Parts: sequence; structure tokens; C-alpha cells
Amino acid sequence: MSKKNDQTLPISPGRKKLASLGINLPLLPTTTVGSFPLQQELKEMRFKVSRGVQQASDLERREKLAVDHWISIQEKLGLDIFVDGEVNRGDFIGFFAKKISGFTPGGTVRVFGNRYYKKPIIASRLEWKEPITQPMWHYAQRLTHKPVKAIVTGPYTLLTWSFNEYYPSKETALIDLTKIIRREIQTLVDSGAKIIQIDEPALSTQPDDFPLILDSLKEITAGFKSYFILHHCYGNLAEVWDKMQRIPVDNFDLETTNVPVSLSTLFKKFPTKKDVSFGVIDSHSARIESPRLVGDRIREAAKTIPASQLWISPDCGLKTRTSDQVTEKLTVMIDTVKKFRKK
Ligand SMILES: [Zn+2]
Repeated sequence: MSKKNDQTLPISPGRKKLASLGINLPLLPTTTVGSFPLQQELKEMRFKVSRGVQQASDLERREKLAVDHWISIQEKLGLDIFVDGEVNRGDFIGFFAKKISGFTPGGTVRVFGNRYYKKPIIASRLEWKEPITQPMWHYAQRLTHKPVKAIVTGPYTLLTWSFNEYYPSKETALIDLTKIIRREIQTLVDSGAKIIQIDEPALSTQPDDFPLILDSLKEITAGFKSYFILHHCYGNLAEVWDKMQRIPVDNFDLETTNVPVSLSTLFKKFPTKKDVSFGVIDSHSARIESPRLVGDRIREAAKTIPASQLWISPDCGLKTRTSDQVTEKLTVMIDTVKKFRKK
């Protein structure tokens, strides 16, 4: 960022925290939500490993090559905050369930349109047994000078998208899941992660559960100096937006292109002091957005969110897109942002 911009931009609490972590971002920082598409070879190899006909170490080597690939793509595109691409996560629930003791695999269920995942079963006491996301995050961060955000699935979403056959109540199950995710965050922080994203797409599915979710999120972030992002998608943001302001995170990463409510009305009614990662690219559509459409979406966001608090992102993970679509969509996003920075 130029000196001129430094002086003219009011500093948001989020930017202050980033500065304290040694991270200075340009106006309208660009990022993605987390996942990138898996190459066919990687999918086939994962299947073979699950059948026991290929070594897990071969898969791990191949996954690291995929991380190398996506880091170099992000460098070329010129994104500001990188991700490891989640190339080693089959889905964002099962991947965690496999690495937490107490879960057993369940059957395949359908969620949201055409997305399927294996709904795990909580069969005994849940305990952290090994680093879950930290090894791949750490590998990715060593490849670049850009900050790589670490991404964990939130305790409430892990609970909601599992079958509980052990705990007497969701409250008691959530207490242990909260401890596990806190331990994972501690592991990430210890190895140098500064920006940590918590994925809680289930956040607004049961508005009555909000106090439980708030307690859980307070518990997993307490005492850490990290910059926390909370990702929300799928649900009805209007149900929880005003209450969400009490969640101790620095940035709300929001799906905005496919939502049933007028976000500008919502943001005007309940202005936020948090930074907002605003989705300007539809992750669920193959159609490449025009620069004009992305520009309109950014202008619309800037009407109700101060530019100093605004980050620009796709709506959600990009794993269901092709590699070419990812590159084209992100190129439009970044080129449009660059035009805004020059103004
Ligand atoms: Zn999402």
C-alpha cells in the first residue's frame, strides 16, 4: 500500500490487529474461501488408498504437489491472502472426523443441492489425537511470503453434520468439539499461523442455538492474538447478522451472490465494525462473471461497508469448479479490484 493510501484510509480494528501481526494489506485485499478443484489423478489415488491398493505416503506426496501447484497459481494471480487449497480434505466434515478419535464413518447423505458427504457418527468420547489441518497449512506457508490463512471447520458445524450416538445432549457434544478445535488452533498458532478462518456454514440453521454457538466461538478464540475470520454460507444471514456482531472474530467471510435477502438493507440496519470478506464470485456457477458485474458488486458492498473494512473474495470454496474456471473467475475478480485501487 502506498503512503498516500496509508494516510487517507481510516484504520479498521481488523487492520490494526493485522498490523500488530506484521501483516499490511492493500485496499480491498483479495482472498479465496478455501478449497480448489482436485485433479483427477488425485481423486483416483485417494480412492485407491481407501481400498488399500496404494500407499498413503504416495497420496501425501501427490497432495503436496497439488499444494505447490495452487500456491504458484495464487502467486501468478496476485492474490493477497493465500490458502493451501484443501487438497487433502475429501470433504470438510469427514476429513476432521477421520482425525478426531470418537468418530466412526457413516453413510453418504445429500446436503445443499448436489453436494454429498459421508455423515460421520459420534460413537464415543471425542478427543483431539493429532494435528488435523496444521501439517498442510505449514507446508503451504513455507512455499510463500504471502500470508496463508489456516482454515478449520467450526465445532457447531461438525456437530450439526454428524450423527450423535454418544453424548446425552448437543451441548455436551459441543463442549468436547470446542476443546478439540481450540487445540487445533493452538497447534496452528504455535507453528506460526496468523490468520485463522473458522468455517461455520451451519451458523444460521437453528437460530435458537445461537447462544451455544457464541459460547463455543468465544471459547476457541479466547486468548489468541490471531486475526480470526468466520465463514458463513448457505443459511439465512438475516436471522443472525445482528447477533453475529458479538462473535469475537475480526472478519466475516460471506456468501453474497446467492442470498435471499438484501444485504445492503441488512448492513444499513446493523452496521458492522468487523472487516467483511464480500463474495463477488458465484462459486456454484460455471459462468464467468463479467468485470462489470464484479465492479457493480464491489460498488454495492462499498455503499454499506467502509472500504477500509472490505475484503474481496468468491462466495465459497471453488472445489466444484474446473481449474480453468477458477483461474478465469479469479482473474476477473483481481483485475477489477486493481482498477478500484487506482481510483
Ligand atoms: Zn462456504
